[in-house]
Amino acid sequence: MTQPEPVNPLQAPLPSLRGIGSERAAQLARLELFTVGDLLLHRPRRQEDRRQWKAIRQLSAGEAASVRGTIVAHGLKRFRKGTQSVYEFILDDGSARLHCRWWNLPFMQHYFKVGDEVMVYGKTIGLKPRTMDHPETEVIETGEENSIHLNRIVPIYPLTEGLPQRWLRALIWRTLAEFGAGIADCHPGIPVIDLPSRAQAVHDLHFPAELAEFERARQRLALDELLDFQLEIQRRRQALQRNARALPCGGDNRLIRPLLKQLKFTLTEAQARVLRELRRDLAGDQPMRRLLQGDVGSGKTVVAGCCALMAIESGFSVALMAPTEVLAEQHYRTFQGWFAPLGIGVALQTGSRKLPANQGSGLAAAKQPASDGSPAAPHLVVGTHALIEDGFGLEKLGLVIIDEQHKFGVTQREKLVRKGIYPHLLVMTATPIPRTLGLTLYGDLDCSVLDQMPPGRGRVRTYVRSAAAMPKVWEFVRGKLAEGRQAYVVYPLIDESEKAGLKAVTAEYENLEKQLTPWKIGLLHGRLSAEAKDRVLDGFRAGELHVLLATTVIEVGIDVANATIMLIENAERFGLAQLHQLRGRIGRGAHESFCILVADLKTPVARERLQVLEETVDGFRIAEADLQLRGPGEFLGQQQSGLPRFRFAELARDLALVERARGLAKAYSTRA
Ligand code: ADP
Ligand code: MG
Repeated sequence: MTQPEPVNPLQAPLPSLRGIGSERAAQLARLELFTVGDLLLHRPRRQEDRRQWKAIRQLSAGEAASVRGTIVAHGLKRFRKGTQSVYEFILDDGSARLHCRWWNLPFMQHYFKVGDEVMVYGKTIGLKPRTMDHPETEVIETGEENSIHLNRIVPIYPLTEGLPQRWLRALIWRTLAEFGAGIADCHPGIPVIDLPSRAQAVHDLHFPAELAEFERARQRLALDELLDFQLEIQRRRQALQRNARALPCGGDNRLIRPLLKQLKFTLTEAQARVLRELRRDLAGDQPMRRLLQGDVGSGKTVVAGCCALMAIESGFSVALMAPTEVLAEQHYRTFQGWFAPLGIGVALQTGSRKLPANQGSGLAAAKQPASDGSPAAPHLVVGTHALIEDGFGLEKLGLVIIDEQHKFGVTQREKLVRKGIYPHLLVMTATPIPRTLGLTLYGDLDCSVLDQMPPGRGRVRTYVRSAAAMPKVWEFVRGKLAEGRQAYVVYPLIDESEKAGLKAVTAEYENLEKQLTPWKIGLLHGRLSAEAKDRVLDGFRAGELHVLLATTVIEVGIDVANATIMLIENAERFGLAQLHQLRGRIGRGAHESFCILVADLKTPVARERLQVLEETVDGFRIAEADLQLRGPGEFLGQQQSGLPRFRFAELARDLALVERARGLAKAYSTRA
């Protein structure tokens, strides 16, 4: 007879608890709390020290604080013919009075009455009279439960409509008393002696004896979370190592040598070092899984080219995926220039275009052996996500290269890899990913860094300007055009598919024509046909167009050394990392380059943000600043699907924990 699985009490559904009916259960579900375990991990927004109180008289303007007092008066005022309202109560604690106001929430009047004892938390916005707008409140009720809510450090939770703070706090208190002892460490084999046990951490998360315990509890729970994630990565990696035999792609230099001779430059030391790392991987007995990080302009393309040749020398084909058509075509052009003289076919496959490789070894040929029965010649296919669509296949796929990896999700990456039998994988990114994010997102990849720029680059100066300075800015741009340089003007479009957006760029185009006569201006945006895009880009490359007005489609993939001006309008709408990418389009030749960020600087924060770009061209510093300012989700954009949602780990500040979890997962997963 089989024993029934022991039921984990932490998995009990919340409605099985005393005092939770269907209405409360629905409210809790809105907070994504379904089980006892979920409830015990509901993270308080903050902890409030209710052991001593600040006197209302001591409140200072602009500062958030909590105070406690009695309501001595309250009332609702309506104005603007009754369409607007303000509800106000006056709180007295014996030291002074505090006015608490709520705008356009007339029902608040039903929650309070004169004589109520109330705790409020909020920012004092003025001292004459002392006032808080929309503070958090909690009415003190008499009863034995006050030991939970008063004279201690008290958790303040995220709520949802209809769910009272006090009720939730009491529920968690009771649930903790009943189930807290049943919480076991998640990874009993992995010792963590400097942080509280998981059970203790869950307790301190809600009801710490001291504020410092709350943070240590968070760290413990964050570490558990990061460990789960890193152990999963290690598991995947070990499964790969068990199942996969690497294709021998080390090559013999017979194509690389002539390529290097044909280049107009010699490789930097960093490029040569990275190529040695790549060759070691390609010749090794595990399929390569490597991330190549290098700032914009550090020369990743030629590294990818040499890496592709190693596989091709070994008799395998290569697929290279880029996030946009513009970039895919730029790569196609570059690789054709390099590979055609070597007799290697390069094909292009994007949503709007399919160009077979020139050597008679194109896509069709790659799918079936050539008509004379000889196997298809190895070659390179460059493309967009069209490469991962069903129906696309490549014989003898030995290496997959993904450019601008952060634009793709992990699933897309895996889909392309699965087109072959454990091909090697090289992913490249020019968005310097801060270390914490890198270790989390790319924990399953080895990492190489191009930390050196090719020589002979002109300096790039960056200036932040307000719209009022535009006449001077145009004058400056006209001057540079007269010297024979070219310029980019970038105009932000939130949604390229919107008609209004197109109208805005078109209006801007007309404005530019006026400001910059007689210079010729090209317009480039995402909705142009491939042919139209080509025409504009060719014109700009050839110098027939002097100015390129573009949406962010130029973020990656345009390389014109004579373009030395990058003017970005409404720069406050872009992330720092993206602005840095855009700036990477200039400074590619020997001339000095200028990046002008035109922005609406209403707040000091906006100003401070853009200042980072004035101060540094170090992509990693910029990425760290961006991560701090915007948080990881925003930083990576919507497309990044590889990032798990953490409850306790904070990627912007938990680098040490991330590294620790990775180290522990590596050390302990092999023993399992
Ligand atoms: P990214 O890393 O941004 O992809 P690219 O590969 O596009 O950079 O390289 C930027 C420019 O630098 C290209 O014009 C490329 O030909 C050039 N380049 C690459 N490596 C070197 C080098 N070692 N010396 C001089 N120029 C180089
Ligand atoms: Mg590149």
